Amino acid sequence: MSRNKTKTIIVAGGAGFLGSHLCEALLAQGREVLCLDNFLTGNMANLRSMQNHPRFKLVEHDICTTFHHDGDLAEIYNLACAASPPHYQADPVHTMQTCVVGTLNLLDLAARKGARFVQASTSEVYGDPEMHPQKESYTGSVNCTGPRACYDEGKRAAEAMCFDFLRAARADIRVARIFNTYGPRMHAQDGRVVSNLVVQAIKGEPLSLYGDGSQTRSFCYVSDLVDGLIRLMAIDPAPDGPINLGNPAEFTVRELAQLVLEMTGSKSVTRFLPLPVDDPRRRKPDIARADRMLGWKPVTSLHDGLAKTIRYFMETETESEVPLVE
Ligand code: NAD
Repeated sequence: MSRNKTKTIIVAGGAGFLGSHLCEALLAQGREVLCLDNFLTGNMANLRSMQNHPRFKLVEHDICTTFHHDGDLAEIYNLACAASPPHYQADPVHTMQTCVVGTLNLLDLAARKGARFVQASTSEVYGDPEMHPQKESYTGSVNCTGPRACYDEGKRAAEAMCFDFLRAARADIRVARIFNTYGPRMHAQDGRVVSNLVVQAIKGEPLSLYGDGSQTRSFCYVSDLVDGLIRLMAIDPAPDGPINLGNPAEFTVRELAQLVLEMTGSKSVTRFLPLPVDDPRRRKPDIARADRMLGWKPVTSLHDGLAKTIRYFMETETESEVPLVE
């Protein structure tokens, strides 16, 4: 066992969708996990399987304030940040603070403790891309004054800080640019396309498609994504730039809706709504770098991942309204 395997791992945002799956995977590898979360969009139900685990600890904490940790620290995964437009736009200034001040606080902690650091960045740093598929070298086309800027620009600033810490040899950082990920524990209410369509189909409500539904997305199943994050943390030396993590299989939103209808057996009709502001037309990762450097590629097909996601929403879904935003 390496030196680092005995020490604690912080997962900031560990009560959220991706974070809770990451905590579970790290516990399954025998690691000690300290979950930090302010429960803005995370919830205790996501942590149910881990609550009484002897190697799991939860601290309610907002990363915008400094966190003190007395013991050793091997690694920090920073996933803390609301990830969907209705959530991150609800308090855009806090979103920007979480990305900038929160990430800085955790980078400082990593520097003090000599801990490795993985930043959960996003494909949104590419904005509405003029390059397709998006390689890590593409510098993006982001509207810095639009309603998505608190998130897109916040995440860009967070990446900039990570690489400044690297250049100054203050911390061993790694940056994952995560593309659309889906699976059990996604929020039913946050307007993301997979959860929206699945929940609407299960309830027999009309399926909302924005524009003409011809915009494309790539959908990565959560266990594949978590595997990519853990590989990114483990690799030594760290890659010298960000790494795209996502599934390059590209589907139009209309194709996704059709698959959801078939798999749920729903009789829902589709309805077309105006495209939200700054909604990207196409989104598809180039994952050659992740393949080459991490030996990583997604292995779960959309069909198999959707089956698990549909089962989850069938078990958990309540009577609440589904919003009309992708
Ligand atoms: P999520 O909203 O389910 O999880 C985010 C978690 O962070 C929640 O538990 C929330 O309570 C917590 N949080 C938010 N602000 C915080 C703060 N200031 N202090 C402490 N905790 C805070 O979202 P997710 O889908 O699990 O996304 C996790 C990370 O991955 C985010 O950073 C997001 O930007 C990134 N990401 C996700 C996707 C995706 O498709 N899910 C795509 C790209 C990037």
